[in-house]
Amino acid sequence: MEVITSVKDMRESIFKLPRSIGLVPTMGDLHQGHQELINCSSTDNVSTIVSIFVNPLQFLPNEDFEEYPRNIDRDLEILKDLNVDLVFIPTIDEFYPPGFSTYIDVEKFSDKLEGKSRPGHFRGVATVVCKLLVLCRPDYAYFGQKDAQQVLLIRQMNRDLNLGGSIVTIPTVRDVDGVAFSSRNKYLSSNERKAARTLYQSLENLQGLKSSTPEELKNAISSALAKEPLIQIDYVNISDPDTLEELNLIEKKCLISIAAYVGKVRLIDNLVLDNTGVKF
Ligand code: AMP
Repeated sequence: MEVITSVKDMRESIFKLPRSIGLVPTMGDLHQGHQELINCSSTDNVSTIVSIFVNPLQFLPNEDFEEYPRNIDRDLEILKDLNVDLVFIPTIDEFYPPGFSTYIDVEKFSDKLEGKSRPGHFRGVATVVCKLLVLCRPDYAYFGQKDAQQVLLIRQMNRDLNLGGSIVTIPTVRDVDGVAFSSRNKYLSSNERKAARTLYQSLENLQGLKSSTPEELKNAISSALAKEPLIQIDYVNISDPDTLEELNLIEKKCLISIAAYVGKVRLIDNLVLDNTGVKF
């Protein structure tokens, strides 16, 4: 496993890497969600690249960029035991050199859900992922369904800019208590961690609710979350899983998205259901 910190070295090493190449972009502090993406890449491909970069562009000024967990030594220990060929760990100056001034805006999805709550977030995500895709030229790039909106946005960008490779979505990986693995779970106190279970439980409880309207589904989630005093809802949204248009009626499938503060920690989760309440 080769660890690379410069764009120039990356270019040279990728050129020598046997294809097919899988890319797994991360912000590090690796958990089992990341590991699943990496395992899928190394199953599907001859070579796997993992990037670790806490991308300042995707954090709003009032967000947790400074505190975001960074754990490179531990990450490299984990990666050693996985089938990874290259690890790319650029510094901020290396990836955004002084004078950097090119950004990607994916208009279609940027102003909804996470984009509405975190204006500018997806401009940062699209820019960093575009740079990684252009640099690494992977045949496949792996992303988690936990960030469902991010995947839609990246697929759109990949199509619009003819970036070439395929975008692969991996189902959300959860801890034994149902909480989706996330680097931000570290910030939770033990009481908050218990409260965080309610997010997924409120989604799971929707299964089997046949012929419900989006309004009924939203109310069911909101009242489940309202019972938990440590939780404050940012949004609960029922939308078309392909367009993110908000639904008044569920004809086929719907994406149910939650963003909520558990204490001070903002978590997101989602589930895709069909119109008979069956999970996808
Ligand atoms: P992050 O390091 O949080 O930027 O995440 C890097 C990639 O891992 C993104 O594609 C995420 O969607 C994905 N990811 C994060 N958490 C999970 C999870 N619990 N299950 C599956 N994928 C995940």
